[in-house]
Amino acid sequence: MWTRHADDTVVDATGKIIYFGLQRFLDDICLGDCCFICGARPGEKPFNNEHVFPEWLLRRLDLFDKSITLFNKATVRYDRFTVPCCTECNTLMGDEVETPVSQAVGAGLDGLVKLLKGHPLALAVWMRLIFIKTHLKDRTMRFHLDARKGQQKIGDFYQWEQLHYTHTFARCFYAGYEVHRDNFGGTLVLPVKPTFSAHHRFDFADNFIGQTMLLRLDDVGLLAVFDDCGGVLGLMERQLQRITGPVSEPQFRELFVEMTWLNMHLKDRPVFNIEIDPAIEMCRLTSDLPPKPELIELDYGLRGRLYEHALGGLFSYDEETMAAIKAGKFTLLFDRDGKFIDHAEEAAQYAAIRNTETKT
Ligand SMILES: [Zn+2]
Repeated sequence: MWTRHADDTVVDATGKIIYFGLQRFLDDICLGDCCFICGARPGEKPFNNEHVFPEWLLRRLDLFDKSITLFNKATVRYDRFTVPCCTECNTLMGDEVETPVSQAVGAGLDGLVKLLKGHPLALAVWMRLIFIKTHLKDRTMRFHLDARKGQQKIGDFYQWEQLHYTHTFARCFYAGYEVHRDNFGGTLVLPVKPTFSAHHRFDFADNFIGQTMLLRLDDVGLLAVFDDCGGVLGLMERQLQRITGPVSEPQFRELFVEMTWLNMHLKDRPVFNIEIDPAIEMCRLTSDLPPKPELIELDYGLRGRLYEHALGGLFSYDEETMAAIKAGKFTLLFDRDGKFIDHAEEAAQYAAIRNTETKT
């Protein structure tokens, strides 16, 4: 029989944490230095820490000595981009999550599509783990590069509560509970045409508030919305159907902006439940869905800001294009007739062609 502690944390007879109550999650995982999976304290167990982007991925894409650039232009080498993790959890994560995903990635687009259809939980967990690790890492990253402006860390600005459910989901492989299919959110796998240079084999972006993530591994792109139960992809269906070929890198980033933006406008959000019955040792994640995904009034200014953040550095835009971007009406995906622009080079130059209509 499991035991529920006063802080809502549920442990089994051996002391293994099945479920982290919110306060313990905040104290031990977000603000403490416990193993981010099992919650062990350093010294209690051997630790070998976990790369935010798994080692096999760094090896595959030749990223070990390269650096990730954070939003404030700070850089950290990928091989030093790690979070606290015990050896035992690291091994388990390797067996349960990393192995199926690395095999799928090795088989390219087809492999990932097959994984998404056949074992979507592995991909859902893998992407959430990266999302969580990235943000946990932000506890140690300075917000201001110039120390005279303040000593705050990026993580000081987070509402960590927002990560609690994602964390609960991501450790299902450790705790052994069931996750209902609706909770997987929306995941999109699609071919991407390298646009800028062959040595940019990797791209990553995420949005903490929007609960979205973008990953490009060579010519395969992955996009995820974690907390919408698939609503956003449902709303984008017509738009996605019009994409008839591989997208360029900027087009791929635009899709990320679109998903983030729409997720921030869902009228009724799914309600996520954690059902636990300690007496019969049962835990499962379920959700109550709105009848259909609907949007509140769209804030195009917000789209403009998201767009500028995600794509602003990629081109030098003329004034008129910049105004269209800020107004939230710019698209690199479709021409004035709503037809997909299926040439990567053409898309890369599209800033000069200019299009001010976003058709959804
Ligand atoms: Zn652990």
